[in-house]
Amino acid sequence: MAEQSLFPEIGEARLKPQLWNLWHGCHKKSEGCAHCYVYRRDAKIGVDSDIVHKTSSFGMPTSRDRYGNYKIPSGTLIFTCFTSDFFIEEADKWRNEAWAIIRERADLHFYMVTKRPERIATCLPTDWGNGYANVTVSCTMENQKRTDERLPIFASLPIVRKEIICEPLLERIDFRRQIGHWCSKVIVGGESGPEARTCDYAWVVDIRRQCLELGVGFHFKQTGAKFRKDGRIYQVPRQLQQPQARKANIDL
Ligand code: SF4
Repeated sequence: MAEQSLFPEIGEARLKPQLWNLWHGCHKKSEGCAHCYVYRRDAKIGVDSDIVHKTSSFGMPTSRDRYGNYKIPSGTLIFTCFTSDFFIEEADKWRNEAWAIIRERADLHFYMVTKRPERIATCLPTDWGNGYANVTVSCTMENQKRTDERLPIFASLPIVRKEIICEPLLERIDFRRQIGHWCSKVIVGGESGPEARTCDYAWVVDIRRQCLELGVGFHFKQTGAKFRKDGRIYQVPRQLQQPQARKANIDL
């Protein structure tokens, strides 16, 4: 896409989270996984993405400097598992150790995204109660089928802070008025990469309308590479996908 602006200019503060990749590898779970960047990237270096293994950065949040201080400062937002799923089956044998790290660093906030809400209840630690205050779980719902399947499960889980991610947004989604104050925010974004499917701005705005009606936060994260607005399709370069979404200025 050229340098034109799809939306008026706005400014926004940006979070600078750290990344904690506990394990690598995954299995394609649903339509949103079709062009998964993990598979794309691994294929280039001959790695089999279906093999799940613990990474060398597993203990990162509790690592200390030579003075005995934690290397990661208090209050940092930590994105977990960005080349896997925190609740994937193969990680069952490592997850209790991961929960112990999360428990020890109660001063950090851990953010995890999953397409496997049906596994969460059996993967929680024994002292979870109504949820750890320093954990946000975000469940991906990329189309109507996966929303109908995952939303009731996700809504019923004891998690202090829950978000929904519609990314890559593949079609118009009706939440059937099942979102509410239990859900902090719905995050919407298009698909990136050379094979990106179209994301229509009308679908984005329709999700925003539902969030507004039901008192749920909303964040338009990025347009994706192939973005339709007012019937016209734009090819949006990677570096402009987030800025263009910010320019829409439709967050709630
Ligand atoms: S769940 Fe996420 S990491 Fe796993 S295959 Fe799907 S998109 Fe990729």
